[in-house]
Amino acid sequence: MGSGQVTSSEPFDFQGKHVTVAGLGVSGVPAAKVLHGLGATVTVVNDGADERARAQAAELEALGITVRLGDGDTLPEGTELIVTAPGWKPDKPLFAAAEQAGVPVWGDVELAWRLRGPDAAPWLAVTGTNGKTTTVQMLASILKAAGLRTAAVGNIGVSLLDAVLGEERYDVLAVELSSYQLHWAPSLRAHSAAVLNLAPDHLDWHGSMEAYAADKGRIYEGNRVACVYNVDATDKPSTEDLVREADVEEGCRAVGFTLGTPAPSQLGVVEGILVDRAFVENRQKNAQELAEVADVDPPAPHNIANALAAAALARAYGVPARAVRDGLRAFTPDAHRIAHVADVDGVAYVDDSKATNTHAAEASLAAYESIVWIAGGLAKGAAFDELVAKSAKRLRGAVLIGADRALIREALARHAPEVPVVDLDRTDTGAMRAAVREARRLARPGDTVLLAPACASMDMFVNYNKRGDAFADAVRELGSAEG
Ligand code: ADP
Repeated sequence: MGSGQVTSSEPFDFQGKHVTVAGLGVSGVPAAKVLHGLGATVTVVNDGADERARAQAAELEALGITVRLGDGDTLPEGTELIVTAPGWKPDKPLFAAAEQAGVPVWGDVELAWRLRGPDAAPWLAVTGTNGKTTTVQMLASILKAAGLRTAAVGNIGVSLLDAVLGEERYDVLAVELSSYQLHWAPSLRAHSAAVLNLAPDHLDWHGSMEAYAADKGRIYEGNRVACVYNVDATDKPSTEDLVREADVEEGCRAVGFTLGTPAPSQLGVVEGILVDRAFVENRQKNAQELAEVADVDPPAPHNIANALAAAALARAYGVPARAVRDGLRAFTPDAHRIAHVADVDGVAYVDDSKATNTHAAEASLAAYESIVWIAGGLAKGAAFDELVAKSAKRLRGAVLIGADRALIREALARHAPEVPVVDLDRTDTGAMRAAVREARRLARPGDTVLLAPACASMDMFVNYNKRGDAFADAVRELGSAEG
C-alpha cells in the first residue's frame, strides 16, 4: 500500500507576517481565520461591498482582522503574501502589483498544502474539463472499500483546509482540483494524479487554450508514483503531452486509461471487463481483472473512462483489485448526472443537467442510440457545430430553450437539417414543462429524452440543480397524467 510521505514544501512561518487575503466568500473567510489564528496580520480585500460581504466583514473584524471592501485591486502596504480565492483572474491589477513587489500568490489549495502536518495523508488528485466530481467520488469509494480512511475533498465542495486541519485522521485524500486552483498552487506535489480530458473551457479566465492546458498539467508536477492520462483523448495538447512536459519524481510512471484493449502500462476494457496492465507483475504478459463494465453506474462510455481513471489512481496507491470492484459497485452518481428519472410510454427520461458545456453534452449524447435532445441556456461563448455534427445521427429530434438557443438551432440547421427542431422561444421557468411535453411528442418507444443542455443554466434557473429538478418534475407530471 502507498508508502512514505509526499515531498514537503518549504515550511512557512506565518507569525507576524502581513498576509492579504483576496476575496471573501467560501475560501476567503476560512483562510483569513486560519491565518489569523497562526499569528499573521491579515488584511482581506474584496471587490464588492454588498450586504453579504458586509456581514462577512463584520464577522472577521470582530476577530481583529482588517477588511477592505470595494477595492480588490490595490495591494495593501507591507503585504508579504497574498492568499487568493481561486476564481480571481490572473490579469487583475492586484496580481500585477504583487509581481512587481515580489510578493508570492497562493490559492486556497496551496495554503492547505503548506499547512499539512508532518504525517499528512498523501493526495490522489484529479482534474479535467469534465468528470472530476464523479471520478473523485468513485476513487473515494474504492479507497473506502479497501478499508482506508479517506474523503473526497477540494473543488467538490469540501474544503481542503478543513480536511488538512480538522480532527479527522486520513490515510489518503481523493482531491478534486479545478484549473483555477491549480493555477494558484505552485508547490503542490500529489502522490499520483489524473487529467481526465481537456476541451476548451474557461478560456476567458486563462487567456488561451495553452494557458488552460498548462494549468491543468500542473497537477502532474512532482508526482511520485503515477501520472494517469487519457489514451483516447484526441484534443491537443493531449493529456499525455502534459505528462511528458511535467517534472516528476524519479521512478514515477505514466499510466494510460483507454476504452479499448490496454497496452502494457495501461488500464482498459476487454470484452466487458475493466482490466489493469499497469500495476501487475510482468505487465508485458499479464493483466489483472478489476471489475465488469456493468459494475459502473451508469455504464456510459465516458463514465467507464472515469472509473478507469479512478481505478488507476487507487491501484497506484496499492489498492487490491477486489476493492476496485467493490468500490465501483458501492458508488452512486450525484444527482443530475445522467440520472434516469422515469420511463413513460416506453421512453426513458434522463436528466444530465450537469452537462453545462459542449464537451460534457457530447459524452452524454454518445451514451444513447436514439435521442430527443433538450438543450439550450447560456452558451458562454461556445460553438455547437462539432457537438451537433458528431451527434446528428443519434437525434430523433431536438427541443431548444434558453437565451442562446439560436446558436444550437443554427448548428442543427447546418449539420442535421433533417432532424425536427422545436424552438420554444422561452426563457421563463415554465419553459421546461413545455419542453418535456414537446419532447414526448417527438419521441418513439425505445428512445431517450435527454436533458443535456450544453449550456449554463443561469438565464432561467438558479443553478443546474434547479434546472434538473424542473425537468424531473415535468417528467413526473407526464407520468401522473397517464394515470
Ligand atoms: P465536473 O466535476 O468535472 O464538472 P462531473 O463529474 O460533475 O464533472 O460531470 C459533469 C458532466 O460532465 C456530467 O453530467 C456528464 O455530462 C459529463 N461527463 C462526466 N464525465 C465525463 C467525461 N469523462 N468526459 C466527458 N464528459 C463527462
